[in-house]
Amino acid sequence: MSSEAKPQTSKIQRVLVVGGTHGNERTGVYVVKAIEQNPAIVSAYSFEVIPLLANPQAIAANTRYIDRDLNRCFDKKDVANPELLGVENQLAKEYTAKFGADGTESVDVIIDTHTSTANTGQTIIPISNSPENLRLAAYLADLDPTIRVHLGLHSQQDSPMLRSLATLGCTIEVGPIPQGILDAKIFQYTKKLLLATLDYCEQLRQGITPATSGSLTLYQAIDTIDYPRNGQGDLTAMIHADRQGQDYQPMNTGDPLFYDLQGQTIAYEGSQTVYPVFINEAAYYEKGIAMVITEKQTITISE
Ligand SMILES: [Zn+2]
Repeated sequence: MSSEAKPQTSKIQRVLVVGGTHGNERTGVYVVKAIEQNPAIVSAYSFEVIPLLANPQAIAANTRYIDRDLNRCFDKKDVANPELLGVENQLAKEYTAKFGADGTESVDVIIDTHTSTANTGQTIIPISNSPENLRLAAYLADLDPTIRVHLGLHSQQDSPMLRSLATLGCTIEVGPIPQGILDAKIFQYTKKLLLATLDYCEQLRQGITPATSGSLTLYQAIDTIDYPRNGQGDLTAMIHADRQGQDYQPMNTGDPLFYDLQGQTIAYEGSQTVYPVFINEAAYYEKGIAMVITEKQTITISE
């Protein structure tokens, strides 16, 4: 990487480690609780690690959110809107005032831990597509060939997500796991990726540019596909059995996509080979998303 990125990232002073942005994704909640109960897990780092249970009411209720998805509340216009008074809008205002760029405890890095009911495996979603974030993603992807890097539709800094309060960091998204469940393997993957991200930050803090293999495979979101629905918005088909669980696998024209209530297969009609992710994510039914469509790209990470 070019040297101009160093001055910004080597000044890391505070890292926010978040669980429970979605209250029914218990893995992150308990990773954060593990740190709270045993601060020695992170005490060797030379920067401050701030553990945060982001949505306590939703965590207590074991639900994704109370009024609105917290991870869609950080749009600057919404944060500045005094008429938005729901639980999550209030939290977004509080966290922006505290942890945001002009906040009282401004953080340099955010690591937000999530799980998915889809077969995401170990997925890293960088905060943005900046060279600093892509280097972090490459470093993490080099740990294990099964780790995937997904760039969301909101891959720029001005996204409505909690992670957008910092300029460096990522969402760790591990699955498949049902909502409300703890699973030791998913917990271990999440904790491993979290600590690896903190190790990366420590190297930056020491003025070291962390080494990577020099190559990164990215799954860049380009669109979403909704379920087939009737005029009332009700589902008329489900994910086809051949597509279920096939996150990050190529989908070509004519491949089975949905299976309707009458037993008919609905094929993918797009002309381009795509790589669907978040297939059949439980939380996305209400968002009108049956899957996120990505393009597979390989980029070079310069030394
Ligand atoms: Zn989540």
